Amino acid sequence: MHEVIVSGSGPSGSFAARLLAQRGLDVVLLEKEHHPRSKCCAGGLLLRAARKLDFELPEDIVERRISRLRLVSGGDAAELRATGQFALTIRRERLDEFMAQKAKEAGAELLEGVKALGVHQDATSVGVTTTAGEMCCRYFLVAEGATSQNADRLFGRFDRKRVAVGGAMRMKLQEEPDDAMEVHLLPHRSRVHRTMPPTAAVFPHRGGAMVSLVGKGLDGETIRAVLSEVGKEYSSRFGRAFDGAESCFHRLPLWIRPKLRNGRCLALGDSAGFVSPFSGEGLTHALESSRLAALAVVNARAEGNAKNLALYERTCWREIVRRMRATAILGPVVRSVSRRIDVRELARALDEDELLRDKLSGLLDGRSGALEASAIMMAKFPRLMPRLNIR
Ligand SMILES: Cc1cc2nc3c(=O)[nH]c(=O)nc-3n(C[C@H](O)[C@H](O)[C@H](O)COP(=O)(O)OP(=O)(O)OC[C@H]3O[C@@H](n4cnc5c(N)ncnc54)[C@H](O)[C@@H]3O)c2cc1C
Repeated sequence: MHEVIVSGSGPSGSFAARLLAQRGLDVVLLEKEHHPRSKCCAGGLLLRAARKLDFELPEDIVERRISRLRLVSGGDAAELRATGQFALTIRRERLDEFMAQKAKEAGAELLEGVKALGVHQDATSVGVTTTAGEMCCRYFLVAEGATSQNADRLFGRFDRKRVAVGGAMRMKLQEEPDDAMEVHLLPHRSRVHRTMPPTAAVFPHRGGAMVSLVGKGLDGETIRAVLSEVGKEYSSRFGRAFDGAESCFHRLPLWIRPKLRNGRCLALGDSAGFVSPFSGEGLTHALESSRLAALAVVNARAEGNAKNLALYERTCWREIVRRMRATAILGPVVRSVSRRIDVRELARALDEDELLRDKLSGLLDGRSGALEASAIMMAKFPRLMPRLNIR
């Protein structure tokens, strides 16, 4: 019998496996694919996420270091001066392979090409049916991403109204793009504007860029059209994009499942629904959930009481869900002014307000809490409004 089985070696599963193996637990990490496997993602890793790791990412994994944020609205673009580097861009197939290796290095046993098919548990153990046969453990962590059927069965299905589709488009450019991440405000009162968040993002990579959009209530064709429009606008500034940019789509839950724990099983990362409803960003919460899950398992094992896993659900609400909620309130504000504000004036106003600029940067690089940053932004917003020439 193993102490822990983690199913899924995306960032949340691999990081949890690493943390548990470092504490001396016998951990098996299951992955249904073989690394490097592809994962639909824009590859924006905010510093607040990267800082949760207990190791540095090597230079060959980091595509670009981002220290500028550009707001684009219609034909206008304005740079919001940040207070230093606040994000990295990465390619997920490389990051995920590296993180699975880091779990192995710490002592976890990585089984690639092995899928968890079903779970059954009693008071003392969890049985996991896999494509390689039956396995048994004391604690089972589900880190299988947003489409996990094991999570559906163990923790309840996502609220369908809060499930979106994430779309990402990779484009190659003839010229190296600059190091600014762009947020494109979508046209006001259009069909795409109803989506949350009402923005598309562009992340520069080596020799190209990734465009991403969270499409809630939108079909694939509309998402593809927006990605391509944003991509064209971006590439016209950095040299023509090569024909045939590749797009991908993946389910993206924007809120948590009914439960995060069932007996000896916990839900992590996207399997739990830890994705920001404001931005579609998931890596910060995925890594935080790994840390909290590892803490709860170590605690339950030390006390010899699986009920101590309830600690996980409580700390997730306090540390992750409250933050998701805090930033979620910014979504409707951005939507109400999207494409109606003068972005240059907004950039000037932020430039003059050191506290606001610092909190905005701090939210991205992890120095400020989401609650604190959102509260300051909301308090300052009414005074900013008259300056923004809202149309
Ligand atoms: C289009 C798009 C763009 C995004 N862009 C960003 C971004 O720029 N920045 C950001 O922070 N977040 C972004 N996200 C969100 C981010 O991708 C996720 O939050 C993140 O991947 C969650 O990691 P995870 O480890 O929980 O799950 P995943 O990365 O989905 O990993 C799950 C793993 O489990 C494996 N697996 C699944 N089922 C089984 C099974 N039954 N048995 C064994 N293994 C299994 C899978 O093969 C996979 O390796 C984006 C999402 C989308 C869809």
